[in-house]
Amino acid sequence: MSILTALATLAIYSTAVAVLVLIAVTTYRLNLKRHPFTDCRRCKGTGERRSRLFAHSFGYCPDCHGSGHKVRAGARLLNIR
Ligand SMILES: [Zn+2]
Repeated sequence: MSILTALATLAIYSTAVAVLVLIAVTTYRLNLKRHPFTDCRRCKGTGERRSRLFAHSFGYCPDCHGSGHKVRAGARLLNIR
């Protein structure tokens, strides 16, 4: 195999990888735009924090302020609203 064939193969492969990465990133961004929120991990999406002493009493979850959802890490990092 000559050096030119090797270089051509490398160029084709790197282009293919670049296109695949671009498609993956675009899909991820679209998904973030459509579904920018995830369940709050601390309250498991309920939005409330139960008291350990009194089972009937609860307060708003301090992490999500009672909404039960949080902005996904990707949406926060890429600043997608
Ligand atoms: Zn929460």
